[in-house]
Amino acid sequence: MCVDLHLHTLYSGDSSITPRRLVETLHAHSFLKTIAITDHNTLEGYHHVSKLATAYSDILVLPGIEASTPYGDLIIVGTEERPPNPALPERLIEFAKDRNVVTIIPHPYRAPSGLGDYSRHLRPTAVEVYNPTAMPIQNRMAQRLAQEMKLPQIAASDAHTIEDLGAAYTKIRASQNLDEILKAIRNGEVQPSQKPKT
Ligand SMILES: [Zn+2]
Repeated sequence: MCVDLHLHTLYSGDSSITPRRLVETLHAHSFLKTIAITDHNTLEGYHHVSKLATAYSDILVLPGIEASTPYGDLIIVGTEERPPNPALPERLIEFAKDRNVVTIIPHPYRAPSGLGDYSRHLRPTAVEVYNPTAMPIQNRMAQRLAQEMKLPQIAASDAHTIEDLGAAYTKIRASQNLDEILKAIRNGEVQPSQKPKT
């Protein structure tokens, strides 16, 4: 199954994706039916999208957040609870572990919001090794980081416009179910993927 674990709606403040357009696009999409909404420091967009998605049996929307920390961004996927803010990455990872949900280090080497080498002090669930908004060298460094830390590797679109949706995604060995998806990410049953060039 293909999952986009990192994208933004209007509620991020820097994205043009409306909840309605998002669910309509997913419903029409040939293979991307499962996404995590990871707005900056808010779950409001998630609530709007998941409410609209209840009308479509093919779409699964996972709760998520891209939390800002003094060292860089950290993504939490799997809980509707608001994480502490402000918080250090260590505290956010603890918050996620207490709730049995996952953390992902997005674009670790993309300036200015990547955690960079600070990631090496952390114990996240996974690393985003391909992000279309990062430069190729930054993605290669992210991949090396994940290899060295022996962590599962994911890819995501980080979409801020509807056209960017699905530019990258993760193939996950799970059925369309939140707990199964979280478990598969933890177990590394994931494969970072990019939209084939046409
Ligand atoms: Zn993002």
